[in-house]
Amino acid sequence: MTNVGDHVRCPQCGGKARVVWVSQDGKTVAIRCMGYHSHDEKGPSTKVGSYYKTKLKRKGMVFLIEATKNE
Ligand SMILES: [Zn+2]
Repeated sequence: MTNVGDHVRCPQCGGKARVVWVSQDGKTVAIRCMGYHSHDEKGPSTKVGSYYKTKLKRKGMVFLIEATKNE
C-alpha cells in the first residue's frame, strides 16, 4: 500500500521522489521528484528548443503514476 509521504523512485530520472497524493482506489499516486529534470528529449534542436530546455529544467516536478503492487 502506498501512502502519502512514502519515498519512491522517480520513474523518469530514477532519483528520489516522495508520494504527495494517492487516489481513493489507491491505483494512482502523485509523486514529487527531488532531482532536476530536463526535457531535452522532447524539444527540437533549435535555438528556441535550447531556450525551452533551460526553462524546463527544474526541481520538484510532480507526476501522476500508476501505483505498483509490491505484494
Ligand atoms: Zn525525477
